[in-house]
Amino acid sequence: MDKLSLTDIKKKNYADIYHFIYKNKKISKQAIAQGLGISLPTVNQHLNALLQNGLIEKSGRLQSQVGRKATLYSILPQAHTAIGVEILRDRIVIAAVNLLGEETASRRFHLEFKNAKEYFSCVSGYILEFIEDIRLPRQTILGVGFGIQGLVSSDGTRMMYSRILDTDGITTQTFENHLNLPCLFIHDSECAAENTLWHFPEIQDSIYLSLGRHLGGAIIVQGKIQRGRTGKSGTMEHMTLFPNGKKCYCGQLGCAECYCSAEALLQPSETLRTFFQKKNAGDEACVQRWRQYLDCLAMFVNNLHLVIECAIILGGHLAPYMQEADFQYLHEKIQTLTAFPEEEPFLLPGAPYPNSVAVGSALQFIQAFLERI
Ligand SMILES: [Zn+2]
Repeated sequence: MDKLSLTDIKKKNYADIYHFIYKNKKISKQAIAQGLGISLPTVNQHLNALLQNGLIEKSGRLQSQVGRKATLYSILPQAHTAIGVEILRDRIVIAAVNLLGEETASRRFHLEFKNAKEYFSCVSGYILEFIEDIRLPRQTILGVGFGIQGLVSSDGTRMMYSRILDTDGITTQTFENHLNLPCLFIHDSECAAENTLWHFPEIQDSIYLSLGRHLGGAIIVQGKIQRGRTGKSGTMEHMTLFPNGKKCYCGQLGCAECYCSAEALLQPSETLRTFFQKKNAGDEACVQRWRQYLDCLAMFVNNLHLVIECAIILGGHLAPYMQEADFQYLHEKIQTLTAFPEEEPFLLPGAPYPNSVAVGSALQFIQAFLERI
């Protein structure tokens, strides 16, 4: 291994101390020195630099101590913020996310998607208005992530494929020109999966299913999303569930999208809220439709579980409406469908947070900042 230079060691100590405070929330310099095995004068020097750079703050004193009480340090979550934007066919959702990965503000705007200059300038206008509205100092913004219903290039600068949005040829430059901030495109189901991973870092191998208006998915191996050679890994919404079945927007017949997406569940006049209100009030037609939906979902989940034996997380806009009884029903149904019944349930609810795509797209910038500090 190459020897670390003095500058490298300094950089490493600076980062280690920041991450140690981040992990421990509030901690004294003595505990940092002890925890990291770094001398107290070195810890002091880096704490001063972190204070000067506005990344940490003094946050009270240690309570359970006799004599002079030691000062506690914590990170400043608002030192940097990332903006996340979910682009949907008929609306956009904008969220601000701090260094702890918490949503600090959000807004929704109705706006029909159009691959046209006016649309990009309007979206950018809403983002700039949002930044001004929540009084976010510009120099603290790390970047803007866009969660897109479609595939994006591996470097996140170009939209590659989307039958839902007509996105041909759109690059991040289109937004960067308006916003003057770094921008990144991310596949929306990956954003939602990232958000779940952020809240449950213990997840190692799993399949994430986003039960949104459209179906989406992501494969997580060893805590990381597997994108595949050209980003098509995890696009399980287009696996055939019923040969010669309903027509999918991708052009094929019988894709899981046509049976397991929220759009497949709802009638044109319904929203998830109104559907579940009726279903929970005992509306027979809705109860029956929900049962049919769960039956298709059980078949789909069973197929996936036969491909990779791991936990399957159900997230997306529909997930917060699912009750424990629904998970139990799915589990039992799967037992009747599978070749290998097992007692242990493997279905898990996703992160119960709204705006998970917008927040997940902002998290890319937060993670990158934490990795490079
Ligand atoms: Zn399809």
